[in-house]
Amino acid sequence: MGTYHSTRGRTLSCSSKVAIRTGIAPDGGLFVSDELGTQQVDISSLADKSYFEIAQDVLGMLLNDYTAEEISACVDEAYRGTFASEEVTPLVKLDAAPGADAPQTYVMELFGGPTSAFKDVALQMLPRLMARTSAKDGGAERIMIVTATSGDTGKAALAGFADAPGTGITVFYPEGKVSRVQNLQMSTQEGDNVAVCGIRGNFDDAQSAVKRIFADKELAERLEAAGTVLSSANSINVGRLVPQVVYYFAAYAQLLRAGAIEAGDAVEFCVPTGNFGDILAGYYAKRMGLPVAKLIVASDKNNVLADFLTTGVYDRNRPFFTTISPSMDILISSNLERMLYFLSDGDCELVAGLMEQLAQTGRYEVPAELLAKIQSVFGCGWASEDEVRAAIKSCWDANGYVIDPHTACGYHVFEQVAPTEGAKARVLLSTASPYKFPRACCDALGLDVPEDDFEAMRVLEQATNTVAPAQLAELESKPVRFEDVCDVDEMASYVEQAAKKIATN
Ligand SMILES: *Cc1c(COP(=O)(O)O)cnc(C)c1O
Repeated sequence: MGTYHSTRGRTLSCSSKVAIRTGIAPDGGLFVSDELGTQQVDISSLADKSYFEIAQDVLGMLLNDYTAEEISACVDEAYRGTFASEEVTPLVKLDAAPGADAPQTYVMELFGGPTSAFKDVALQMLPRLMARTSAKDGGAERIMIVTATSGDTGKAALAGFADAPGTGITVFYPEGKVSRVQNLQMSTQEGDNVAVCGIRGNFDDAQSAVKRIFADKELAERLEAAGTVLSSANSINVGRLVPQVVYYFAAYAQLLRAGAIEAGDAVEFCVPTGNFGDILAGYYAKRMGLPVAKLIVASDKNNVLADFLTTGVYDRNRPFFTTISPSMDILISSNLERMLYFLSDGDCELVAGLMEQLAQTGRYEVPAELLAKIQSVFGCGWASEDEVRAAIKSCWDANGYVIDPHTACGYHVFEQVAPTEGAKARVLLSTASPYKFPRACCDALGLDVPEDDFEAMRVLEQATNTVAPAQLAELESKPVRFEDVCDVDEMASYVEQAAKKIATN
């Protein structure tokens, strides 16, 4: 028994441990709990709390079948000594707030973890949460995580799951279609339970093949007989979503300590968005008592979400653009389904119907009443590639602060969207280190743009008087462990081989 069930139906319920171990509900929906918001975080005491204490409170409310000891151990293992700052997700105050009549604006740096992208906050936690589940929570003794990546998720998942007890991880990426830094981040990964393989094809080919692997009943039976079950580390997993709720409260705590706001003041957040996981976590925080003025979705040229939030029509039948903000290049934002569930007051039938339409026609439209409700919570905007480059430049010129192309989408949107009345501060979530995308940053700042990523890092260091994170700079000389490349139809047997290997570890 438990409080989690599918966004598409309430007939089956389960505990948060089962939801985390199994990843996705059996009917294809996402796991949600109707208890969200029944317990409220005490805002007046936030200023006195560390990231660790806030994480303990928030995760305890969202994952109610984990003991306080289990959560405390997970939080410690995930964040103690693994992030650059004691604050884990530190705020930086901008000298000049972007946009007319804007209140004080801060950047929350979410990229201080081992792979320099915000996905570390969640992917340092997910393996620890999974490690506290067991075969009785569903599946077999061991878990094999299988992930297709366009670049960032793969490395963050590898870093999180490397040598995690009872699990293995296999990552597939499109060969020749990730940057040199991204490629080296994955191919140099250490750990006895990791496997990395390029595929001949593009990201969609890899993603579709992984979905087929999950649906392959015969493969599942063979693996289960050998004591292994497949699972996913992408952002539909509850265990990836809930750690992200914490930093919205942590931002508020830092604003209180800085004297920028008083307890109860409303704050506006702008979030560079792809799969809608990061911003949905902000909505969870709002439901749990955080005074949020508005949550602003920032998209890149793939602006399907900005269109949806403006018109109520979600339509993925449109060209797909590969941009300089690759982690936001996405046309199906999976976590939107959870938002629709909560804002329709838990109307599973409505959600199931919309998702069916999306699968059949690539399009759906929400009722006007629901759209109005959504618009009262979420704002939106988007940036073309030229606007992204201009935002990197104008942030640098105004503040002497370099942002990456994903964060720059949000900066541009803050420049464009009028602040919500009553918002006492604005926070821009920064999702990656500029050094993950050094060539795009050099280009935007009008510097030389060397062909080689590592040369570009040095140019960026010189010009901005900042230092590349050591874990990125050192990749240039790290030994490569994986050079496997396979065809799409060989991926299943690659996973099976990797599963055999972890079974004998
Ligand atoms: C994944 C990612 C995003 C998008 O986050 P979602 O939770 O998918 O909306 C934005 N920026 C960077 C750098 C990312 O890696």
